[in-house]
Amino acid sequence: MHEFKFKNNLLYCEDVQVRDLVKKYNTPLYVYSYNTFIGHFLKLKAAFQQVNPLICYSVKANSNLAILKALVARGAGLDIVSGGELFRAIRAGCDPAKIVYASVGKTDVEIEEAIRKGIKFFNVESLPELENINRIAGRLRKITNVAIRINPDVAPKTHHYITTGKLTNKFGIDFATARKVLLLGRKLRNVNISGIHIHIGSQITDGAPFLEAIKKVIAFISQLKLKGVNIEYLNIGGGLGIIYQNEKPQTADEFARKVLPVLKDSGLKIIMEPGRFIIGSAAILAVKVLYIKKTPLKNFMIVDAGMNDLIRPALYDAHHEIVPLKTPSSKKTMKVDVVGPICESGDFLAKARNLPVTKEGDFLAVMCTGAYGFSMASNYNSRRRPAEVLIKGDQVKLIRKRESQEDLIRNEIW
Ligand SMILES: *Cc1c(COP(=O)(O)O)cnc(C)c1O
Repeated sequence: MHEFKFKNNLLYCEDVQVRDLVKKYNTPLYVYSYNTFIGHFLKLKAAFQQVNPLICYSVKANSNLAILKALVARGAGLDIVSGGELFRAIRAGCDPAKIVYASVGKTDVEIEEAIRKGIKFFNVESLPELENINRIAGRLRKITNVAIRINPDVAPKTHHYITTGKLTNKFGIDFATARKVLLLGRKLRNVNISGIHIHIGSQITDGAPFLEAIKKVIAFISQLKLKGVNIEYLNIGGGLGIIYQNEKPQTADEFARKVLPVLKDSGLKIIMEPGRFIIGSAAILAVKVLYIKKTPLKNFMIVDAGMNDLIRPALYDAHHEIVPLKTPSSKKTMKVDVVGPICESGDFLAKARNLPVTKEGDFLAVMCTGAYGFSMASNYNSRRRPAEVLIKGDQVKLIRKRESQEDLIRNEIW
């Protein structure tokens, strides 16, 4: 479900024609639909109403302050993975009591700052990290809440770069070690271990691996109780998949039907950390066709956005639909590799794609680029990162200016 629709052969974001946006702001341009991402947040909240979860939007999916602020205003908490994201979360007005912090490599400075701010949970990924948090909290004379991130060893069907809950991944702690950590943790005076956290991967379209992981950790929590360890919170992570091409992901309601019964039975307080599910389909990347280059072997459509603007195709072999902003009258198609201007053969947005016949100077929309789009953008090849606009009904708001040439060298000393 998203609010990018064609009217009279022209692509609109909500009530705004995208062609008007590219004329005003140029390309490449990220265009976000407010009602799409708020809609996804509210759908998830409604589906899980019976357990009234704390929904912590995963900042790394898209960390623009305007987006964070809009979600926080609707009651979202935030899931962070660095000190930089903590800074953003606070700037967006998020109550620290709604911030959860995961990462295998939290530094002392990051830990201290998060303790000072009073975040809800550290999601702890190793014993040395737990001891370090305890030491730093002790120095600050505080007791901080922690959840232990479990690696439940389940294998969701998704790209191997985005599975995080198998024992070969660096994330979380296996059950046997976690048991020892939890028992040992009781002796640490400046941490209060009151939660269990899992996050098994991303773009998972089926509820089965979630249910499997949740059942495993709930059984684990019951065993802990017998040993006198009381767990109050279960954080089930993020990872819900969306439609990029022809996936049939579970809806929020289907997901809830699958996992709600066990969650309710457990009596635990529930936290969720969706990123992609909320913001993924809420944006397009508008690009301009620069050249059509014909070679003996194939044809390239060279556009003005590259892997520095959107790295998902290069990094994950991800599929993004690509459509012209104005549907041509002819039904004729051409088979092309859609590529960017960057000096890398991995710099492509689509391979061997049949697109409507397109001319130089035409504009295209790369669909579903809200998650891990701008947040993974870089300045490679000294390219300025794109502008971002947020649409709500017929309102247009520039939420990030296009970078300038001066921005590129701002911190350099010569
Ligand atoms: C990335 C991440 C998420 C969000 O993942 P999505 O697939 O975008 O929902 C949630 N929790 C943790 C710990 C993460 O690292």
